Parts: sequence; structure tokens; C-alpha cells
Amino acid sequence: MNSFTLPELSYAYDALEPFIDKETMTIHHQKHHKAYVDNLIAALDQAGETDSDLDSLLQRISEYSPAIRNNGGGHYNHSLFWETLSPQPKLNPEGKLGEAITTAFGNLENLKAEMKKSGLGQFGSGWVWLYVKFSGSLAISSTPNQDNPMMDLQSANRGFPILGIDVWEHAYYLAYQNKRADYLDSFWSVLDWSSVEKKYEEALSKIK
Ligand code: MN
Repeated sequence: MNSFTLPELSYAYDALEPFIDKETMTIHHQKHHKAYVDNLIAALDQAGETDSDLDSLLQRISEYSPAIRNNGGGHYNHSLFWETLSPQPKLNPEGKLGEAITTAFGNLENLKAEMKKSGLGQFGSGWVWLYVKFSGSLAISSTPNQDNPMMDLQSANRGFPILGIDVWEHAYYLAYQNKRADYLDSFWSVLDWSSVEKKYEEALSKIK
């Protein structure tokens, strides 16, 4: 048996309104994320896999089945997503992350514009990422389905995600319908940069 569990949220389902509505949050966490956890456990059990270190598993995901890739990615990506949202967000990155964003993108508005463009350009379901390349620099990319930049699915541009925007329709459709651009604009009102700053430090420590 392995030991993955659905993480509790540190805020109420309605706490991110009006930017992310209560019904979307409830279904997204209790149904979608729960299903990724349950299906990951089942797929790992079926494979006889007992490793419960999701980080290392995702970094060699090419050795595993599509079910483990999709549900392991789903569990990891959503856990990161919830942790970076807050009803009382810090709205501007500071410190080392703030400096790295200036170096890589010029300023925060450029980063937001590039992530929006990447999110709108992701056809169908997927994620937009701000991540720390294994070489140490910041980068933005999008991935399909529940993939993420940690996975060994490509030889270049891999790294540790520190901020992910879920662009599956289940993340926004009830409130925003087909208007993904509006959802991508609203996202920044509940994105807590203090959480992303911590994840940046963690990623740098893993690279060293
Ligand atoms: Mn989702």
C-alpha cells in the first residue's frame, strides 16, 4: 500500500470568491483532485509500486504507465495549486524571487502577460507553469493534461514547478464559461506570492 491522501485546504471553499467560486472549488477539490489521488493509489498498487515520493516518481515518469503519469501528475499539480492560492494573498513577489523575475522577464507584468499567452495557447486541457529549470533559471511553459516540467518526457527545459495555473475547463467553466482569458486575469487576485517565494527557495535547494 502507498500512502497518498487528499490534502486539506487551508481556506474555505468560498474564500476565493469572487475570483474562484465556491462550487468550482468544491467540485475541483472533492471530486477531481480526490479522483486523482484514488486512481493514483490504485494504479501504483496494481503496478506493485510502493515508492511514495511523488517528486522522484514524476522525475522518472517515463518508466510508468499512463495511469500513474496522469494521476500522479494530477495529484502533484493540484496540491501545488491549492498551496499557492490564498484569500489574503501577497500580490507582489519580493526578495530573491522578485529579483529573478526581474532578471528573466523584466517585470511582473511581463511575466503575467507571458503566462496568459501561454495559457491561451494551450489547446484543450493543461497547465501553465512558472518553474525553475534544473540549470537554475526561471522559465514559463505550458503542458497538456496533467503533465508538468519535472517529468522526464522531454530532454530540454525540465525543472521544478513553483507556480501552476490549471487551465482545464473544470477549473473555471462554471463561472467563466469559455472565457479562459478572464479566468487567467482573475487568477492573480488570489495568487499568494509568499507561497511561490517559498517554493522558489525549495527548488533552488534541490538544485544545489
Ligand atoms: Mn484541475
